[in-house]
Amino acid sequence: MTEPSIFTRILRGDIPGEILLETETVFAIRDINPQAPLHVLVIPKTEQYRDVTELAAGDAPLMADMVAAAKRIAEEHANGEYRLIFNNGASAAQSVFHVHAHVLGNLPEDRLIGF
Ligand code: AMP
Repeated sequence: MTEPSIFTRILRGDIPGEILLETETVFAIRDINPQAPLHVLVIPKTEQYRDVTELAAGDAPLMADMVAAAKRIAEEHANGEYRLIFNNGASAAQSVFHVHAHVLGNLPEDRLIGF
C-alpha cells in the first residue's frame, strides 16, 4: 500500500495546513512556499490522478470542479482574477504526484507578462 500524499495528510488533519475551501470533490490549501501574494493549491480529494494529463483524460468533470474552486478562491482573495498552473513531471517542477493546480493571484506589475 502506498503512503497518502502530503496533501491527503493535510486534508485528514494529520499534518498542519490552512484549508481555505472544501467541496465534495476538491479542497484548497495555502502553499507553504508562496510564489505570489495569493498562492493556493486546489487538489482533488482522490489521489487517483498524478497529473493534469491523466485527470483530463480520466475525469473531465473533476477537472472542471478544480477550475470552479480556483475561481471561488480568486473571487474571495483576488478580485476574481487568477493564474492557473499545473506542473507535469519532475523536469517541469512537479514535486507532488497527486494532481494539483497552483492558483496565483494579486500579481505585482512586473509579473503580469511572462511567468
Ligand atoms: P509542485 O512542485 O507543482 O508539485 O507543487 C507542490 C507544491 O506543494 C509546492 O509549491 C510546495 O511549496 C507545496 N507544498 C509542499 N508541502 C506543503 C505543505 N505541507 N503545505 C502546503 N504546501 C506544500
